[in-house]
Amino acid sequence: MTPRKHIIVIGSGIAGLIAALEISREHEVTLVTKSELSESNTRWAQGGIAAAMFPDDSVAEHVADTLRAGAGLCDAAAVEILCSEGPARIRDLIGLGVTFDQRDGDLARGLEAAHSRARVLHAGGDATGLSIETALVRAVRHANIRVLEHTFACDLLLEGEQVTGLEVLDAANSRYEIEADAVILASGGAGQLYLHTTNPSVATGDGVAMALRAGAQLADMEFYQFHPTALATLDTFLISEAVRGDGAILLDAHGRRFMQSVHPDAELAPRDVVARGIARQMALQDGQPVLLDATAMGAEFLATRFPTIDAACRARGFDWSAQPVPVTPAAHYWMGGVRTDIWGRTSIPGLFAVGEVACTGVHGANRLASNSLLESLVFAWRCAALVVSGEAFEKTPFAWQQEEYLIDQDTAAATMPVDRRELQTLMWNAAGIERTAEALQSAANQLSHWRPDGDTVEALETANLLSLARVLVAGALARKESRGAHFRDDYPETSATFQHSLLFAKAVEVPC
Ligand SMILES: Cc1cc2nc3c(=O)[nH]c(=O)nc-3n(C[C@H](O)[C@H](O)[C@H](O)COP(=O)(O)OP(=O)(O)OC[C@H]3O[C@@H](n4cnc5c(N)ncnc54)[C@H](O)[C@@H]3O)c2cc1C
Repeated sequence: MTPRKHIIVIGSGIAGLIAALEISREHEVTLVTKSELSESNTRWAQGGIAAAMFPDDSVAEHVADTLRAGAGLCDAAAVEILCSEGPARIRDLIGLGVTFDQRDGDLARGLEAAHSRARVLHAGGDATGLSIETALVRAVRHANIRVLEHTFACDLLLEGEQVTGLEVLDAANSRYEIEADAVILASGGAGQLYLHTTNPSVATGDGVAMALRAGAQLADMEFYQFHPTALATLDTFLISEAVRGDGAILLDAHGRRFMQSVHPDAELAPRDVVARGIARQMALQDGQPVLLDATAMGAEFLATRFPTIDAACRARGFDWSAQPVPVTPAAHYWMGGVRTDIWGRTSIPGLFAVGEVACTGVHGANRLASNSLLESLVFAWRCAALVVSGEAFEKTPFAWQQEEYLIDQDTAAATMPVDRRELQTLMWNAAGIERTAEALQSAANQLSHWRPDGDTVEALETANLLSLARVLVAGALARKESRGAHFRDDYPETSATFQHSLLFAKAVEVPC
């Protein structure tokens, strides 16, 4: 039996909560989270969680759909694990108190883009993330876990290459160190890199930036998924893909359907295709948003099936049962992150990563809708199992042998204090839905002139966004092709030369 260890988990979305719960059965756990326990991307997830749980479906079909969406970059072994272990983990979630919606005595299921079967389970209609988060937070509150809310994880502590703990900044503005036998990053994505995003304000990529500073390998950083349909209001509230799955259509400013001429699957084409179709249509109509027409579904169906979106539309002055609503694409999900193996191990001893912060390779160049909650669940559980078994402390970490793309974080030219809004605008314009070498190069130059500014939580988050923006732009420049969510106007075709992930790590000084 492994001697009791101290494990720090950073983040309280589905990945962090599952990891903390499972590990706390065997080891001492400290859960560090920068806002309230329930705040996370998870809490806002709407459409649901995908798994092959019905007799007319199969793991093989879920695997095939996931690989197709990933556009040649998925890690096949990781995808197989995701799809085959998913159903059992969903039954675990039900055991933890998540109540998925039912229909005729069985689990209800929705269809989403690029899925060949209806296999997306949902809860509370369109409040799947909230239902999961609420059940897991309740379980964590009752478990033997030390929870540090409003505590910002600043940096990993290192002894040589081994991670030995975490430096945090608490709500009273005190900085202190917490020692640990292992640290698990579960700190989510970085939608705040972009001016328009569906992600809440906590999504600033802190875990990826911390791992980069510590010397970990990152991968697929150039692949950011843009959700096609967020309400075209200041807060870009997400309108789930499930709405189009249930029959909503997209119209141009004149009320004409336009996606049929873009792709045979029209509104249910892969996300990147729909997002690009909308962006191009918006360009044709002077930047005006396109319209999402769900009126054919009727007020009663919309209010029952999509209560959260229904309330959000009405709160913003739209009656979507009576008239089409304006929508625009927005940054939604990062396929890239800290490279891990199928157990959540990173390239640094003592450091693990699970959930959106990680790049397990299951999404490749583009995530299949509703696969991310599943990935967080399956791989957080696997990582916890590795820690509980003790193997996490025995085996040497792995590293890909493939050539790394070193990022020079040299800040000699960086003299101008970075402003978050300017950074987000730059990223939206240059490294968004459509990219060109010219715009990316100019963004890279601009990014190299900005420097971090201050030591408040907000300033530290912006510093993290800045370093991640540099890596993302470097990756987007290096990938001279279009694939999945990465689209280059100057290289619109997919190229066999790039059928591999780009790995990133900070440049290290070689001793003379
Ligand atoms: C609006 C919306 C709808 C979505 N709908 C779906 C869907 O229907 N199906 C699906 O599969 N996926 C969906 N997604 C994506 C999915 O929600 C996320 O990928 C998933 O929830 C990620 O879980 P996570 O646990 O990795 O991270 P998160 O849930 O984002 O949690 C990250 C946690 O880390 C904390 N944190 C971050 N930085 C620090 C720091 N420096 N110090 C301390 N704590 C920190 C945050 O506060 C948060 O608690 C949606 C996302 C959004 C935004």
